[in-house]
Formats: sequence, structure tokens, C-alpha cells
Amino acid sequence: MLQQTQVGTVLAYFERFLGKFPHVAALSDASLDEVLGLWSGLGYYSRARNMHRCAQEVMHRYAGVFPQTAQQLQALPGIGPSTAAAIASLCFSERVAILDGNVKRVLTRYLGFASDLSVAGNERQLWQLANSLLPHTDLINAMPRYTQGMMDLGATLCTLRKPACASCPLQNRCVANLQSNPLAFPVKTRRIKRSAQSIWMLWARTDEGALWLEPRPTPGVWAGLYCFTLFDTRQALLAAVPDAYRVHLIDLPVVKHVLTHKDLHLHPVQLELPGTCSPNVSGAWFEPTQWEQLGMPAPVRKLLHSS
Ligand code: SF4
Repeated sequence: MLQQTQVGTVLAYFERFLGKFPHVAALSDASLDEVLGLWSGLGYYSRARNMHRCAQEVMHRYAGVFPQTAQQLQALPGIGPSTAAAIASLCFSERVAILDGNVKRVLTRYLGFASDLSVAGNERQLWQLANSLLPHTDLINAMPRYTQGMMDLGATLCTLRKPACASCPLQNRCVANLQSNPLAFPVKTRRIKRSAQSIWMLWARTDEGALWLEPRPTPGVWAGLYCFTLFDTRQALLAAVPDAYRVHLIDLPVVKHVLTHKDLHLHPVQLELPGTCSPNVSGAWFEPTQWEQLGMPAPVRKLLHSS
């Protein structure tokens, strides 16, 4: 939950999630709709889908007991090499290095590692160096402490823009600090290319507050979440509206929604229909008591709450 999301936002979701799924078996038995419903509004829904699949795999492949090595952990859905190393070293004291964004920053500065991390070979080399720095003795105690220490350094002192070198326990051995240029690290030249896309959303509803929704296809943006029907053009949206009702369409202001690699320009178009009529697209009517429980994309929920 904390990937790309701040603690303050996560807390309430975490409580609700653990209240509903107190152990891996409960999460594994839940439906994906139930899981996405509890995640609704937190964004990055692939995390929820992966966590659900991960729970099912832990139940079916490992009889409900989490595997303990980084190698086994990273074969589970949603657990990458660095997260696997974090779990294995923090929970099971395995001698493996984590290398998330924060730790890369600490290490490249500490080592004065100036190679471009957008080159895979350079990142592998940094990972090897990270492993060479790990403790050798008393691993049961040392590994969780070392890993936690690296994460804390990256989160609190060795921050992106204002590293607090004067307070850092590594200040006398840190190459970047000794060269007075911590902001020069890490070196990463290739930036993610952003794109933009316009999407028209048919916000069809009845006067009782029911909504016409359909689950988004997998894979794709908002996979598995319930959403207004989406169209690439306004023309395509018009074709989905019964002729007699086209004059009742209301174009609402465009909403910009920022995804990791893309800006979405959402054009909501509202339409009130009698419950006996439906748009010419797949989907179904959901009563307010039903759609409140569904997993929905954050901008759709925001629109609903602002109306
Ligand atoms: Fe980061 Fe400064 Fe500490 Fe070096 S001395 S690890 S740059 S905070």
C-alpha cells in the first residue's frame, strides 16, 4: 500500500483491509471485486490485484505459509527483487541487499557511484556492490537492523533534494559528501516519456441514482474496476446513446488525471435515462447501495462525490 503512496493516506485503508482480511487465507478466499472495493480511491490498482493473486499462490503453492527466501518470494505476484530482499532480510534475516529508489540514492552517494543507472548493467553492478557491503556476522540481528537502517537513511537523512549530511552517521566516509556534491547522485539520464490521451466517459444514471457501469478489461488502465463506459471520441460516445436521448447529454468540464506515464484528459458526459432504458453498450445498472461497494477509478469516484 505504501508504494507511491503516503502513510497518512494509507492508514485508514490499512485498518479496513486488515479488519476484513486478517490473514492470508481470508484474502485468498475473497473475490477480486471485494478486494478492489476496499482499495477504491488508493490508486495503482495492480497492487491490489497482485496482492490477491499472491495470497492465492501462498495458499495453494505453500499451504498458507509464506516462503522465506528472496528467490522464492520474488516469484510471487507483485513482489519484485528489492521487495523480496526486504521481506527476506527483515523477517527471515537472509543476507540479501535491497535496492529500491531510496537505497540507490544512499549507495550511489556513499560510494560515489557515477555510472548511469538507466543502463541495466550499471544497476547490476550497483546491486553487486550493495551485496558486498552487507554484514557477515550475527545475521539474525544484523540483517534486519542493516536493512532498516538503509531504508531509514534514504527516507530521513539522505533525501532527494536536501540531504542532511551534517547529521548523517556516514558523513566521514561518504564520497559524495566528501566531494560536497551529493545532489550529483544518482546519475540517471533516461527519463520516462510521458504521453497524453483524451477519453470520453458516458456518465449514465437514473433519477434514483443508479449508474450504468462495466468492469474495465484486463490488462489496461483501471483493469477490473467498475467504470462509466469509456470512448476514444465523442462521436463514438454519441453512437452509444439512444437517439431520443442525445439532446439530453450534458458535457461537464474536462478532468485531468495523472497516471505514472500518461496524462488522461477525461471528458465526462452526463445523461439521465429511465431505468427501463439502457445505453447501447455492455454494462448494467447498479443501485447506489451496490456501486458504493465497488472498486472504481479514483477520478470516477471523485466525480460522483462532487455531484
Ligand atoms: Fe547521504 Fe550525505 Fe549521508 Fe552521504 S553523508 S549518505 S550524501 S546524507
